[in-house]
Amino acid sequence: MNTAFLKGKTALVTGSTSGIGLGIAKALAAEGANVVLNGFGDTAEPLAQVQAAGAAHGAQVAYEEADMCTPSEIETMMANAAKRFGRVDILVNNAGIQHVAKVEDFPVAQWDKVLAINLSSAFHTIRLALPAMRSANWGRIINVASVHGLVASAEKSAYVAAKHGLVGLTKVVALENATGGITCNAICPGWVLTPLVQKQVDAKAAAAGISNEEATKRLLGEKEPSMQFTTPEELGALAVFFCGPAATNVRGVAWNMDGGWVAQ
Ligand code: NAD
Repeated sequence: MNTAFLKGKTALVTGSTSGIGLGIAKALAAEGANVVLNGFGDTAEPLAQVQAAGAAHGAQVAYEEADMCTPSEIETMMANAAKRFGRVDILVNNAGIQHVAKVEDFPVAQWDKVLAINLSSAFHTIRLALPAMRSANWGRIINVASVHGLVASAEKSAYVAAKHGLVGLTKVVALENATGGITCNAICPGWVLTPLVQKQVDAKAAAAGISNEEATKRLLGEKEPSMQFTTPEELGALAVFFCGPAATNVRGVAWNMDGGWVAQ
C-alpha cells in the first residue's frame, strides 16, 4: 500500500528487535505509523531499519526494553509509550519463545516462562492499552499466535497451550469490543525462517547428522505443503491489512499464513 494511512497513529510491537516483529514494525512504519520497538539483543540495527522504513512519512521510532515476563516492566513500557506519543493505537503482541521437550521432561521454569511471554504478556498489554483506545473509539490489537494456536505438534506443550490461549484471548477481546472501533485479531504463521526457527533447524541437523539444507527441507516437508517459509514481509502486509479500512469488520479471527499446514 504505502499510502501513509497510518500517519499520526502509534504502534507498539513487542519482541520487535528481530524476526516477525521487526517485519511488522517496518511494514507499519512504512504506512506512516510511529513505532515503539521492544525486545532483546542489538537495538541499533532494528531501530535504524524501522526508522528508514518510516522516514518518507516522518514516522518516529522509540525503544522500550521491558521484559515480557515481568508485569511491572510491561506497565512501565505502556506508560512510557503513552507519555511519548499520547496513546498506543495499534498493539502488536508478538514476543514469543519456544522450548521443546516431552511433557514429563518439560522444565517447570520453562513452562512458566513460555506462558508468561507468549500469553500473559498479551493480557497485560491489552488491559493497559484498551482504556485509551476506547476513549478514541479506534484501536487495532494484533496477536501473533501461530499455527500452533490452531493445531498441535508433539513436544511443544507450553507453546501450543500458550498459542491456543492467545487465540482464545483474541476472540474474547474482539467480542468485548465488537460494537466499537477496536478490533482484535490473531495471525497464525506456519514456519518463518527467523532465529526462533533456525535453532530448531540446527537441532534437527545435529540430531540426524545432516546438512542445514537437508534439515530445512525435512522441517518444511513434515508440516508445510508449500515447502516455502512464510516471510516477515508477508506477515507485515497482513498486519497492515488488519489496520486498514477494509478490515473494520474483521473481528476475532485467527488467520493462518502457513503454506497449507492447517488445511491438511
Ligand atoms: P525471534 O526469536 O526472531 O524474535 C522474538 C522476539 O521476541 C525478539 O525480538 C526477542 O528479543 C523478543 N523476546 C524474547 N523474549 C522476550 C522477552 N522476555 N521480553 C521481550 N521480548 C522478548 O522469533 P520470531 O520467529 O520472529 O517469533 C515472533 C513471534 O512469532 C513469536 O510469538 C513466535 O511464537 C511467533 N511465530 C513464529 C513462527 C516462526 O516460524 N518463526 C511461526 C509461528 C509463530
